[in-house]
Amino acid sequence: MRLARIKLAGFKSFVDPTTLMLPGNRVGIVGPNGCGKSNTIDAVRWVMGESSAKHLRGDSSEDVIFNGSASRKPVGQASIELFFDNSEGRLGGEYSGFGEISVRRALSRDGQSKYYLNGQRARKRDVTDLFLGTGLGPRSYAIIEQGMISRLIEARPEELRVYLEEAAGISKYKERRRETENRIRHTRENLERLDDVREEVD
Ligand code: ATP
Repeated sequence: MRLARIKLAGFKSFVDPTTLMLPGNRVGIVGPNGCGKSNTIDAVRWVMGESSAKHLRGDSSEDVIFNGSASRKPVGQASIELFFDNSEGRLGGEYSGFGEISVRRALSRDGQSKYYLNGQRARKRDVTDLFLGTGLGPRSYAIIEQGMISRLIEARPEELRVYLEEAAGISKYKERRRETENRIRHTRENLERLDDVREEVD
């Protein structure tokens, strides 16, 4: 599984539709200060479901939409699409048979955020599910940012465990367990309420 290309439009400094090709296993992005190198990493995080404006180096979620420059007006929508080479079938579930998987997120100024998997409308949850346990994800170890290595070295055992569980593919089962426990708790509460109503009727 390899990120093969990124399509950007209206995202931060990438106002015009742009396709970044990532042709090999090792690709460097170089350029002068402020040319948009870090914006491409923000784009990858954003599509994978990052919802914290701070983690995308902004103040509000709409800060990812191109907000104008001396020569261009602001635009109304940001869109990013990631294309993964999945020829080894490592990206899973119903999509494992696809040689290429595309994940797109679009956000408009009215706050509407939409996700697409291979061009079909999807929920945010479908996108996070796709990446759970693969090592990819908005805050995963696949993106190693400045200071992360020292944070890992200094991490407390329980923090380190989170990374190890993701690497071992356990985290997705833990997430399922958490959801199931929540559902059981809700059902118990509903049953208690039902008992109360029954007692009243009796
Ligand atoms: P450095 O080498 O200094 O780290 P960089 O190449 O990583 O720079 P980025 O941080 O990716 O640069 O890009 C910063 C540029 O993106 C700035 O010029 C900033 O004005 C522009 N920018 C960020 N958000 C928006 C936005 N919403 N609309 C328009 N431009 C934006």
